[in-house]
Amino acid sequence: MVGIIPAIIINWVALFSYKEDMINQELESIQKQCTLLVDVLEKADYFSVDGHVESPWEISNCITLMQSLYNERIIFTKGMNLLYDSFQKESAGIVTNKIRGTIQDTLSKKDTKLFLKSYKKKDKVILKEEKALKIIIPFYKESYSLEETGFIYVIADTKEILSNYQKIKEKVMTISCILIALILAVTFFYSGFVVKPLKELIQYIEKITDGFLGEKVSIKSYVEVEDVVDSINHMTTKLETLESSRQEFVSNVSHELKTPITSIKVLADSLLQQEDAPAELYREFLTDITDEIERENKIITDLLSLVKLDKTSGELNIDTININELLEQILRRIKPIAAERNIELVFESYRPVLAEVDEVKLSLAVNNLIENAVKYNFDDGWVRVSLNADHKFFYIKVSDSGVGIPEDEQENVFERFYRVDKARSRETGGTGLGLSITRNAILMHRGAIKIYSKEKEGTTFTVRIPLNHVRKNEN
Ligand code: ADP
Repeated sequence: MVGIIPAIIINWVALFSYKEDMINQELESIQKQCTLLVDVLEKADYFSVDGHVESPWEISNCITLMQSLYNERIIFTKGMNLLYDSFQKESAGIVTNKIRGTIQDTLSKKDTKLFLKSYKKKDKVILKEEKALKIIIPFYKESYSLEETGFIYVIADTKEILSNYQKIKEKVMTISCILIALILAVTFFYSGFVVKPLKELIQYIEKITDGFLGEKVSIKSYVEVEDVVDSINHMTTKLETLESSRQEFVSNVSHELKTPITSIKVLADSLLQQEDAPAELYREFLTDITDEIERENKIITDLLSLVKLDKTSGELNIDTININELLEQILRRIKPIAAERNIELVFESYRPVLAEVDEVKLSLAVNNLIENAVKYNFDDGWVRVSLNADHKFFYIKVSDSGVGIPEDEQENVFERFYRVDKARSRETGGTGLGLSITRNAILMHRGAIKIYSKEKEGTTFTVRIPLNHVRKNEN
């Protein structure tokens, strides 16, 4: 439609203006000839009252030439009286200036009416009809009365112009039809070319919606489609990873939750099997059972805070917080636990820091780091917490003199339920969720966490968080 409609309009306008141009040219040329003729007639004093005509043959030649050029009917009148009509065989009127009847006798009613229009006004009249061009030009001297005024009436046939126009129209129409057919063919082919890969793509996306993530799409087509295909493949790979990590998480959760329950069952069963078990044994086993219940409780609490962090991502409760005070508060809470194992807890603050953070989530993150530094430390060791800032970020560093993390395990410690030393973590009441919670909370603040560790020498976690909260759509 975009190609065809403008083509039709252009054709139509071009043809119409061509026809108009041709007619106007013809009209102009006839008018020039008439002016020439009037000149000749005036020189010959054709309409003089005494009827004397100078060089009549010159006039006659002029008229013959006009006729042959334009296929016209030429009429001369003196007032309403006819002197010459090229349609009548005898043209002696030119020479003799003899009256041969009136206009009404010679012309049709319509043409006579047109003549009268010019006659009454003593002015030029032009009429463009479908098949003829009509021009009436009066010429006179000042002393002439209306009856003495001469008129030249030319009726020119437009047959030639129309036939030329028709020929050109046919040619243009043929070319237009060929062009339209071409446009249609190209459009048909091109739309197939554009639409086909998109249809394939839709089918593929429907498959993904139905849950077939494993299949990779391969459509060889134009660049834009191939780019979309690449993006979709990339997206499905991500979805697959997400799906498998979700499954892994669910199986880990089930396993972790099952372990304390299994222990409780074993403890309870063994008590039941012993008929006369002493009260001390009951007390001992029940203490173990309580420990297991506490552990189960801790796992569930950690899981809940992790899920909460995931779910409310982006919904931070931002406030301007004094980070120095926040850290001191956390350290005060952990100090007694560290003191039990004679671990020195030091806080180094390089400057006062005010930052826009979610206090609860940041406390959770830092608390986990410092607690770990104490948990995975040797007795009589040390833990150093430092706080610094520049114009954009604040930095928290938690270093310890503890057991360290082997290099190949360092990148895994942020995974849910990942523990380097399962037995030790269990001993210290770890769930393997602490660092996941920490990392999630830091990422929510658009921050970053890094780990540096050497086995048996110690571990350092560095945290970087923007001083001013970066909202989601600002990134
Ligand atoms: P957990 O509840 O077991 O402490 P985390 O997610 O907090 O779980 O930590 C994951 C694992 O990373 C821990 O089990 C421990 O092996 C290791 N880890 C964490 N912090 C330290 C640290 N400061 N020093 C040595 N190992 C650490």
